[in-house]
Amino acid sequence: MRALQYTEFGAPPEIVDVPTPVPGAGQVLLRVTAAGVCHSDLHIMSTPASEYHYGPLPLTLGHEAVGTVVARGEGADHFPTGTSVLVYGPWGCGLCRNCSEGQENYCTHPSGVNPPGIAVDGAIAEYLLVDHERHLIPLGELDAVQAVALTDAGLTSYHAVKRAVTRLGAGCVAVVIGVGGLGHLAIQIIRALGAALIIAVDIAEDKLQLARNVGADHAVVGDIRAKDVITDLSRGRGADAVFDFVGSPETVTLAGAVAATYAEIAIVGVGHGTLPVGYRRLAFEASARNTFWGSRSELWEVVDLAHSGRLRVEVETYSLDQAPDVYERLSRGEVLGRAVIVP
Ligand code: NAD
Ligand code: ZN
Ligand code: ZN
Repeated sequence: MRALQYTEFGAPPEIVDVPTPVPGAGQVLLRVTAAGVCHSDLHIMSTPASEYHYGPLPLTLGHEAVGTVVARGEGADHFPTGTSVLVYGPWGCGLCRNCSEGQENYCTHPSGVNPPGIAVDGAIAEYLLVDHERHLIPLGELDAVQAVALTDAGLTSYHAVKRAVTRLGAGCVAVVIGVGGLGHLAIQIIRALGAALIIAVDIAEDKLQLARNVGADHAVVGDIRAKDVITDLSRGRGADAVFDFVGSPETVTLAGAVAATYAEIAIVGVGHGTLPVGYRRLAFEASARNTFWGSRSELWEVVDLAHSGRLRVEVETYSLDQAPDVYERLSRGEVLGRAVIVP
């Protein structure tokens, strides 16, 4: 089969021919119908060899997947052949305390979380081997290309927003920094779960327009004036919830600077910024957390939200041959919403 692999440190990913996997006991083989392109893949490919802790090279990329069941290993008999499914990506051991609550994203087993496309071969290929059928959710009436970003961009945003839901009531102010694959879904999820005024921040005008289109009340340019603009828009109140989908030193500083008393700050972007927490360094009783992906049950909730029509993914669709170029486009900030590969 054909697959997009990261083969050599520092080199761009390439299309290669690899053997089609055969499902072992408990495993499921999917014919991939849609695979999402996440900014985290750029972080993986820019990590120097000395700090690299992801799957061994060559690594097939892609951790957002929808596919059709084509073969099943012994004991994997829950989903009939031909069923369209979404793939829950943060594969844990399934048995530790966090996994038993469905929070496989925080698996405590020594072998850790092993997502496809990050730790083992992923979804930007003709076929994807899924380690266990508990990681599959029926696609139902959803469209594969439309839905695939729910598995990471949707789930990660949903988890971060749900954790802050007590700060999203009427009269509250929510700030979303970075309106890309994750951020444009976060805006819609804040709308669906709360009544807060939503202020989106980005550095690109087309992303600010996307923010307005998906429900932001205000869209603010992410420059040195952003803090004052947000303060004015919130009538001096500041933000009750801040979701940072960039995570750079600049954006994390902005997140801390606009946080109001009791604010919930979620740092989701992998930008290596740090937020000092100390007496008067942050608004009183503000809480900051970093988050990784979401739980299995939250993916069901995100899929239900999409079924209800309240979550629309902005997608750009590409073929497998175009995948290397798509990563170039993403690194230049040229993707609006989520880029999806149809292999
Ligand atoms: P993306 O490239 O689609 O979107 C990033 C957006 O941020 C773009 O719209 C860009 O214009 C904007 N941006 C860049 N610099 C900015 C700045 N200084 N101020 C305001 N906006 C700025 O990326 P994505 O796929 O949505 O991923 C977003 C981040 O989240 C990445 O760092 C990714 O690695 C990370 N991520 C984390 C998790 C997790 O579980 N923690 C999961 C998925 C992605
Ligand atoms: Zn991702
Ligand atoms: Zn576990």
